[in-house]
Amino acid sequence: MNNNQSSRSDTPKTPFVDQSRCIGCVLCTQMCPNTFIMNDDGKSEVFEVESVEDSKIMLSGKRDLDTSTQSDSQEKIQDSIDACPVACIRWK
Ligand code: SF4
Repeated sequence: MNNNQSSRSDTPKTPFVDQSRCIGCVLCTQMCPNTFIMNDDGKSEVFEVESVEDSKIMLSGKRDLDTSTQSDSQEKIQDSIDACPVACIRWK
């Protein structure tokens, strides 16, 4: 009757990059290319999902991802957070 074991752990978390501290080393974009992208200012940013259509995820007008390959695991994202040399990525 009580399913609270899965309700919390299944909730996807979203990372956040403090761009004022990002040094543009590109490490996070290499570790999680489906989560982080370098912007025109040479700072990492997190994709914003705008919509999902026909198995394509539309991301901030930057590029589309196929849903079969789109997701970096929460563990991989956590690895990126831990690996960032200036510790400027955190969970929202
Ligand atoms: S790992 Fe950190 S410093 Fe390097 S690009 Fe990503 S957010 Fe910026």
